[in-house]
Amino acid sequence: MVFSNICTMILIVFSYINTDYIVAAYLNRCQVRDIKISYDIACKWSINLHTRFETSHKDVDLSRFSITHLVPKFHLPAHGPKCQARYSFNYTHGVGRTHGETVEQEWAYINLAALSTREMGPGAQHSALDDSWGGWNWRKVLGLGECEICALRSCQVLVP
Ligand SMILES: [Zn+2]
Repeated sequence: MVFSNICTMILIVFSYINTDYIVAAYLNRCQVRDIKISYDIACKWSINLHTRFETSHKDVDLSRFSITHLVPKFHLPAHGPKCQARYSFNYTHGVGRTHGETVEQEWAYINLAALSTREMGPGAQHSALDDSWGGWNWRKVLGLGECEICALRSCQVLVP
């Protein structure tokens, strides 16, 4: 799911500030304690995360959460052996067979909206992108039942 205010426009000069803001916006209203963050550069971004939040996001108490940083499976081979052991979905409890790449798949859908909203003012752009992400979420919810049926059929094949 893509939550409102969690998606942000990437500025020309990208830094951890953008990602910190997205995560802080989510954690501010998060009621779950156990958080898994999948991010292409989680190994680098997680360094000094607590220090950055103490400075820039004082309203977020990171000690309320148990945060596990993970690197998506497709991206992980490009990292070194230390990252592959420490940030792997394969060695993390509670993630099942998740690959962490789903958010990348959503960009193919939203890229069309990015082109059409490029010349909008900030308010209209935010509203249009919010609608697009809402559409994506709706399509995903509708497809969940189909996924369940596929999973059940797979189980029936495995268990005669
Ligand atoms: Zn790494």
